[in-house]
Amino acid sequence: MVGRLVIVSTPIGNLSDFSDRAARTLQDIDIIACEDSRKTHKLLVLSGLKSKAKMISYHDHNGASVRPKLLAEIDSGKTVALVSDAGTPLISDPGYKLVAECHDQGFIVTTVPGPSAPLAALTISGLPSDKFIFSGFLPSNQKACETSIKDISSLPMTIIWFETPKRLLRSLTLLANILGPRLAVVARELTKIHEEVIRAPLPDLIAQFEKRETIKGEIVILVEGKKIDEANFDVVAVKSMLKEELQYQSLRDAVQVVAKKTKIQKRRIYQIAVELKTLIDTK
Ligand code: SAM
Repeated sequence: MVGRLVIVSTPIGNLSDFSDRAARTLQDIDIIACEDSRKTHKLLVLSGLKSKAKMISYHDHNGASVRPKLLAEIDSGKTVALVSDAGTPLISDPGYKLVAECHDQGFIVTTVPGPSAPLAALTISGLPSDKFIFSGFLPSNQKACETSIKDISSLPMTIIWFETPKRLLRSLTLLANILGPRLAVVARELTKIHEEVIRAPLPDLIAQFEKRETIKGEIVILVEGKKIDEANFDVVAVKSMLKEELQYQSLRDAVQVVAKKTKIQKRRIYQIAVELKTLIDTK
């Protein structure tokens, strides 16, 4: 018997999002490594599952000591499922080191994919989804938070963060101060009764949340990426976009795609593309 590790996603709020395959996996498996065994036990009970799996608590504080035990179980032929309290393990949740060590030791790592808050939020945000970056939780420390926003301020792609209700207004204010009136989205309580998606420029979002007596629930913040402005556009960024597009399409099509993305005149993109292509061809 060859052991393996299975990464199993669980619902982010709505029990009906627990897939059949995820349920069957947790029911039939030898060991479930979970952040909080009471939460995972509750999920199994609410789903009517009777799992004989041994539950082993695996989280940031005991990872170093529990990981060798999980690896030894897999080595002895057992199958271990890794679940987090909600959503997809490893996404701002434990698991990365366990997966890396499984690969290092030649064990099979497989997945039962499912809900995850950042992707769920992106798909309903109405912000560009062709390129995005997920940046985890915004730091609680104000200075660190400012630095982390400045670090991503010039990226031309949608940026996604987790935030707590307590810090939402602080973070929206820092985002507005540093990024200006960019279009942003607050996605709250996804898949739950009080699900809400508010899409507006950052200052308007602040105004809306300032009016509330309390802000509750689980929150994802998304902000549009930096727009390349026509009058003062970033040639280096345009070149790098063109380089990527030219890898799998004609110059004409690449120009079209980049002009559409940047909203810069096709003629100007074409000039840069011709120079770039000549450079590439003469290399
Ligand atoms: N691994 C999880 C996933 O794949 O979604 C994320 C775990 S992270 C520790 C928890 C954070 O995810 C919350 O503080 C919140 O920012 C976000 N989140 C989780 N569930 C959510 C929901 N239903 N609606 C909005 N945000 C959610």
